[in-house]
Amino acid sequence: MPAAPAPTLAPRRTTRKIRVGSTFVGGDAPISVQSMTTTKTTDINGTLQQIAELTATGCDIVRVAVPSQDDADVLHIIAKKSQIPVIADIHFQPRYVFAAIDAGCAAVRVNPGNIKQFDDKVAEIAKAASDAGVSLRIGVNAGSLDKRLLAKYGSPTPEALVESALWEASLFEDVGFHDFKISVKHNDPVVMVRAYEMLSQQCDYPLHLGVTEAGPAFQGTIKSSVAFGALLSQGIGDTIRVSLSAPPAEEVKVGLKILESLNLRPRKLDIVSCPSCGRAQVDVYSLAEKVTKGLEGMQAPLRVAVMGCVVNGPGEAREADLGVASGNGKGQIFVKGEVVKTVPESEIVETLLVEARRIAAEMGEVGAPEVSVS
Ligand code: SF4
Repeated sequence: MPAAPAPTLAPRRTTRKIRVGSTFVGGDAPISVQSMTTTKTTDINGTLQQIAELTATGCDIVRVAVPSQDDADVLHIIAKKSQIPVIADIHFQPRYVFAAIDAGCAAVRVNPGNIKQFDDKVAEIAKAASDAGVSLRIGVNAGSLDKRLLAKYGSPTPEALVESALWEASLFEDVGFHDFKISVKHNDPVVMVRAYEMLSQQCDYPLHLGVTEAGPAFQGTIKSSVAFGALLSQGIGDTIRVSLSAPPAEEVKVGLKILESLNLRPRKLDIVSCPSCGRAQVDVYSLAEKVTKGLEGMQAPLRVAVMGCVVNGPGEAREADLGVASGNGKGQIFVKGEVVKTVPESEIVETLLVEARRIAAEMGEVGAPEVSVS
């Protein structure tokens, strides 16, 4: 009998489903994880190399910046050679939107606050996109909000962000085009969450979640996790992008982990390790770090418990697929709830890694990573 799906905090909000190249966003499509390249788009090899790294990390959709004609000119190569759908990010020039559609990009992101004469071009853009089967993202950003709305609201409030997005959406609706998703990004999670909540009540377009300019890895991870968690736990959000001042693959790892934590993606490797305390009888930090590093890349949904003493250790280790409860210079190794051996502290890491690989292979993981003990 197949296992029941893991419970989530709320049913997904019902949204339209749009195509983004070989994948879909919205409706019953899994919530996708996006990132954006940091290379110059004209550096074709560098950009494709970064896209390959993102793909290997688990990224579903990638966005590339198109600030100039030179960037627009290379899009056809990048769109053709990328393993995942490519979205062209266009801020100022409507003509690049047409170039991106012609180049075979899966979708185009437009920023209504920035794009010049955008409103006059809506019918033409809608026709070109429709003919090519390309979708759009209406990407409203607090930092570049339409000046009319900034004047009306005084600052990029949730109401201003939503009004801007719905105004642009209405222009496309007027010409019969509905294949777009919407984002209303702000760097303050409270404003951002409120904006998406309001937007979700006023339309059924798929929503692309993002806390813009979230900051360096530590701060950005927390801000994004808090904001996305607040929305995803209400069923709001169809695709996510974590913005970090860090390599884009880190954004993808955080995004995937957020979805896994809420059972919105099947869980992969999960390390359950205690925070350590005065009762710890081993160096839990170093143990957990070595096990995490040694199992990097493992795809099997293994839960590995690394516990510092015998207070909660045996309980957690027993509940996990594999675990260790440490004490008196030794580690009791648990596999599927049973103690299989007791090893000296110096052999805990190696034993866990060997057992993890064996269990992963039993779970059907092909080419489970070689264990690395350092
Ligand atoms: S498992 Fe033991 S060492 Fe770890 S936090 Fe709990 S009591 Fe402390």
